[in-house]
Amino acid sequence: MSYLLHLKCRECGRTYPAEPIAACEECWAPLEAVYDYGKLWADLRRDDLAARPANMWRYCELLPVAGEPTVGRETGFTPLVAATRLAKALGAREVYIKNDAVNHPTLSFKDRVVAVALNKAREFGFDTVGCSSTGNLANAVAAQAAAGGFKTFIFVPADLEAEKIVGTQVFGATLVKIDGNYDQVNRLCAEIAQRHSWGLVNVNLRSYYAEGSKTVGYEIAEQLGWQAPRNIVVPMAGGALITKIAKAFGELAQLGWVRAQRTRFFGAQASGCSPISTAAKQGTTEIQPQKPRTIAKSLAIGNPADGPYAVKTILNSGGAAEDVTDAEIVEGIRLLAETEGIFTETAGGVTVAVARKLIQQRRINPEESVVLVITGNGLKTIGAISGAVGECVTIKPKIEAFESYCLGAAAA
Ligand SMILES: *Cc1c(COP(=O)(O)O)cnc(C)c1O
Ligand SMILES: [Zn+2]
Repeated sequence: MSYLLHLKCRECGRTYPAEPIAACEECWAPLEAVYDYGKLWADLRRDDLAARPANMWRYCELLPVAGEPTVGRETGFTPLVAATRLAKALGAREVYIKNDAVNHPTLSFKDRVVAVALNKAREFGFDTVGCSSTGNLANAVAAQAAAGGFKTFIFVPADLEAEKIVGTQVFGATLVKIDGNYDQVNRLCAEIAQRHSWGLVNVNLRSYYAEGSKTVGYEIAEQLGWQAPRNIVVPMAGGALITKIAKAFGELAQLGWVRAQRTRFFGAQASGCSPISTAAKQGTTEIQPQKPRTIAKSLAIGNPADGPYAVKTILNSGGAAEDVTDAEIVEGIRLLAETEGIFTETAGGVTVAVARKLIQQRRINPEESVVLVITGNGLKTIGAISGAVGECVTIKPKIEAFESYCLGAAAA
């Protein structure tokens, strides 16, 4: 059962009933879900969770879905991997990978936000759902809408990776490619939301949708033995994930489920689309929009909706933001693959490369624990890495051919 009370404007504090509202009517700021923490504290103990199934709904009291979830029931509770070989390569003592590259059902953390959004869509009585997307959200909405029996419209920039296009269409969704960047796609989507009574997960369902990201934070804390990490590196597109992980740690501390301790938040972007990291470096919450030019397409939002809040989260925590080039992103993907056997997409390459940079610069203390949030799967962005992994030669099916080629090459 959810302990959701209402929605509240992040700027003016005006409250709204829990309905499909995109933003505050007074100041257009985002709306935040507010829960009855006092009642939850009295009703539920942390150890009650231990017996529940290993998926994101074990934290259902802190999510905005009223009844039993009917969509995305198996999503979440991905592994937290103790990454000893990566730690060694980075020169750090204690590194963990939160591996949402294997999230159910479409191999990215977006499965979490969509699971929440589509259950709310059902509650509100929408029979048609949709989204604007940089790729992973499209995959997640298309898959879970198919499983939930919704009609689906999905809007993406035309230059998206082929894997993400096919990985949307296969579920039978109506996919609309827009000749423009994500920010233009998103503006069109907001207009569509005004004219059609549809549940657009990142428009009129956004304040519920974004709450799904908190489950990354709850899981990390639980998997660390009910403890928040000292440092966490999070990739940023719109900036929601990093702010919601911070909200999650704050809620757990408020409930007394983890010791209140300071976690430093480090935001990661690609240099080719770095409006949030640029603002954070300058110490301002004024975001200057950018035109994206990077292989990290899943992070390519030039005008991020939660940008100012992401900057606040980072700076108030004593953390920092950094960005990395496309070449460094490819190195990051390979480093994680070769040390830990985890193949991440470009967004994960951004996270690893930023972590490496920050540890090298000693802005992340290598003696303290650090969690890297790996948000998507490498099989979805093959093109970004295929040129970097080297040629593979074909030989005749003969032992002489094998020995002269392979062993000869090894000896040489
Ligand atoms: C969407 C996305 C993000 C960033 O999420 P925001 O909440 O928009 O900052 C990170 N990684 C991947 C793979 C994504 O698809
Ligand atoms: Zn307001």
